[in-house]
Amino acid sequence: MEIIETNLQFNSNNSPMKKVEGIALHHSGVSVLQSVEVIHNYHKSKGWAGIGYHYYARKDGSVYRGRPENMAGAHCPGVNSTSIGICAEGNFSEETMSDVQKQAIIELVKDIKSRYDIKWIKGHREITSTSCPGDNFPLEEIKNVIASVETPQTTNSIEELAQKVIAGEYGNGEERKQKLGSLYNEVQNKVNEILSGKSSTTKSNEELANEVIEGKWGNNPERKQKLLEAGYNYDAIQKLVNQKLK
Ligand SMILES: [Zn+2]
Repeated sequence: MEIIETNLQFNSNNSPMKKVEGIALHHSGVSVLQSVEVIHNYHKSKGWAGIGYHYYARKDGSVYRGRPENMAGAHCPGVNSTSIGICAEGNFSEETMSDVQKQAIIELVKDIKSRYDIKWIKGHREITSTSCPGDNFPLEEIKNVIASVETPQTTNSIEELAQKVIAGEYGNGEERKQKLGSLYNEVQNKVNEILSGKSSTTKSNEELANEVIEGKWGNNPERKQKLLEAGYNYDAIQKLVNQKLK
């Protein structure tokens, strides 16, 4: 997923993101092409810290960073400090979305989902009274694609799955293996950990990424092996590490 980094300067009247649990989808509401800077300056002129969205997906399929993810958004009252706001360039009350733009949004949402425990994806108008993101915005299509590729990737989700396994919802042996698919090993490790009473040491991906950077998990391939054996999501942790070291 290529995000085009911007050098937008934000005013100090912003607040930190609390906990990302949703993704809110918007449109710019105008058919005319606008750069991310134009929207940034427009939102600043309204007295905001800067562009209200975290990402801006243009018609040509390019995706720009707006607000940093650790800054609460200004795109949808009520969920600004608990969701990532994505704006699609265009007026989807009147026009239809090109495939390249739609694919870019799908990739972006998948990428966000791989990094947070996302509980909902909604169009702006499903949250507050507005026409945004427009009748022609492929909202259901995007939600369906995302739902069909949904794999719980955070430590939390593995923990939740493990609890369900313990509650008997995934059966035993082969049945359990089949139902959990590629997550089987990770979940089963977590189950063993919980049942052996060691689960209180569960760490977040964030903590683990810091430990990796401090060298506590060694180098690959040993690092990967150790993290997987401990029941952690190696890919998600390594991704965080790479982000932090950028
Ligand atoms: Zn909106």
